[in-house]
Amino acid sequence: MKKKKILNLFIGSNNQGKIKEIRDLLPKRVQILTPKHFNLKSPKETGTTFIENSFLKAKFFSKRTKMICLADDSGLEIDSLNKLPGIYSARWGGKKSNFNLAIKKVYKELKKKNSNWYKIKQTARFVCALTIYWPNNKFINVIGEVEGNISKFKKGKKGFGYDPIFIPINKKNTFGQMKPKEKYKIDHRMKAFKKIRKFF
Ligand code: IMP
Repeated sequence: MKKKKILNLFIGSNNQGKIKEIRDLLPKRVQILTPKHFNLKSPKETGTTFIENSFLKAKFFSKRTKMICLADDSGLEIDSLNKLPGIYSARWGGKKSNFNLAIKKVYKELKKKNSNWYKIKQTARFVCALTIYWPNNKFINVIGEVEGNISKFKKGKKGFGYDPIFIPINKKNTFGQMKPKEKYKIDHRMKAFKKIRKFF
């Protein structure tokens, strides 16, 4: 029997950058609603992994809205910082999610670890966990990753978050310098999304 495609979906995120990326990944026929439409705040991210956090957000919003919900948890892991900011990626931007502040903190922490940090390849990856949670308590968790390096300087004004300091593997430009189309083809969210595409 053919699986029923999802036509109405709640996206469990208050981050406009992410909502835009997810919207662009979904077929146009999928109607989406976001926490704004229900005046809902996101739950506390108390998980210790990306998957735990995407799961708790998807479940929370599905229970509140009685809709099928897609939630993501994502972030940047920098190897020399023991995979930080990791699940704290959003929190490094402070209460107002100031991405400039978060990037400053990355450079500060790298310098703290090693004053010659910029002479060494700073390997890193973006990780994206996605959960779809159905009102009948069925769920699916998937993960996508893109490897890369931390740029010595901030470059580019496109995208959001840590995009201006992340150079994906085998590329010269940061995500912040790339057109959205170019980024989406290779990024962590796309790689995770490919694994749940069959539901849409
Ligand atoms: P959360 O998943 O809402 O906890 O937030 C993840 C945070 O990771 C975002 O606020 C960004 O700082 C960062 N992040 C996740 N995905 C991306 C991306 O594609 N580009 C840049 N930063 C990202």
